[in-house]
Amino acid sequence: MNKAKKLYLETFGCQMNVSDSEKIVTLMKGIGYQQTADPVEADLVLLNTCSIRATAEQRVYGHLGKFKSMKKQKPGLIIGVGGCVAQQEGERLLRKAPFVSLVFGTHNLHLLQKMVSGAEQGKQSVATDFLDDEKRFDLFPHAESEGGVSRFVTVMQGCDNFCAYCIVPHVRGREISRSADKVVEEVAALAAAGVTEVTLLGQNVNSYGFKEPGAPDFADLLRLVAQVEGIERLRFTTSHPKDISPRLIACFAEIPKLAPHIHLPAQSGSDAVLQGMNRGYTRVQYLEKVRALRDACPGIQFTGDMIVGFPGEDEACFEQTMELIEEVQYADLFSFIYSARPGTKAAGFPDEVRRAEKQARLERLQAAQKKITLARNESFVGGVQRVLVEGPSSTGDALFGRTGGNRATVMNGDPALAGRLVEVRITEGLQTLLKGEILDV
Ligand code: SF4
Repeated sequence: MNKAKKLYLETFGCQMNVSDSEKIVTLMKGIGYQQTADPVEADLVLLNTCSIRATAEQRVYGHLGKFKSMKKQKPGLIIGVGGCVAQQEGERLLRKAPFVSLVFGTHNLHLLQKMVSGAEQGKQSVATDFLDDEKRFDLFPHAESEGGVSRFVTVMQGCDNFCAYCIVPHVRGREISRSADKVVEEVAALAAAGVTEVTLLGQNVNSYGFKEPGAPDFADLLRLVAQVEGIERLRFTTSHPKDISPRLIACFAEIPKLAPHIHLPAQSGSDAVLQGMNRGYTRVQYLEKVRALRDACPGIQFTGDMIVGFPGEDEACFEQTMELIEEVQYADLFSFIYSARPGTKAAGFPDEVRRAEKQARLERLQAAQKKITLARNESFVGGVQRVLVEGPSSTGDALFGRTGGNRATVMNGDPALAGRLVEVRITEGLQTLLKGEILDV
């Protein structure tokens, strides 16, 4: 009997890449590769990459160095690079790393089986063409409906916003929305396989359907997906604040399955910086959306992203960011030092903020947010949260789940509760998670 070929896959970056990686696993299974967590036993190594920050890109090249040494020991090893760095680098990646056999861009997953089969015959290949038509979604095979508790479903791809710092429109292409029928079909198939929670995924889900007048918009799509039997909880990510409509805000009041959590990246608290970033909203407009969401859904949890040290950010601008996080009281905040990405508008801006200053601001921001996060987690103690049990905790001696507000929670209970929504009394609020006791089963 032939020994199964082994795939070692590493995924960097956002949920879009995580979702693409699920598709990669399905595709590679189709040509006889089983996934392994051990790179040493791999016949095929694929890196699904991210280029959103310079550090993310550098990490990819660092990893490739490691696999280059492995290939010296095992010359038949096939190494492939996909995702945003592959899209950006194309042929250049093969010149920098000639031991790589295939480079596949963000629109080229449908070619992957052929490329890997070619690499098995010793052929190198690069595919980074953008697909501009609606076929983009049809050409991307979906992840297998093999169950689990919580899954991502892609509803739109690409972005038309061109925020001045962002590489995404350059490496993921223009925005397209998948048909509502196709989305509902996929969600129904996942529900039939036992999935309880879906997260609708896209670079800016709020502009879903904008390009097709009369077609369902994102609020309509949420209502359609909420009707799928078996789906108990619904989430979405990522939102652009400028595109949050009153209809979408109303969904939080009117759709009981919609989880009370929104990832709403502000990126800065300063109007001057927001304008430089081309974000399309002011600080006041952002805060109005936050207030409207809180009015529609008291208890909604906010998470966000913040960039520190964008060109033109002076101390006063940064103070406005510090004030914004106090005002919003984010449950969690992902914050980063600005790094210029080649090809973006901001790469041409004079970057006069010193590196040490950026680092100091980031540390201040993160220290303040850490206190806010802990205080928010402590505020849940004594209350009851509906938790979706995902399975055993990482230590294996308890259950792990998430509250509607997306707070990680551990509790004791029967592992057979995986996939069930349970009432949990919160007994402890720690920095990164809540602890609690299940009240009912
Ligand atoms: S909305 Fe802005 S930050 Fe988000 S993907 Fe589009 S260009 Fe990038």
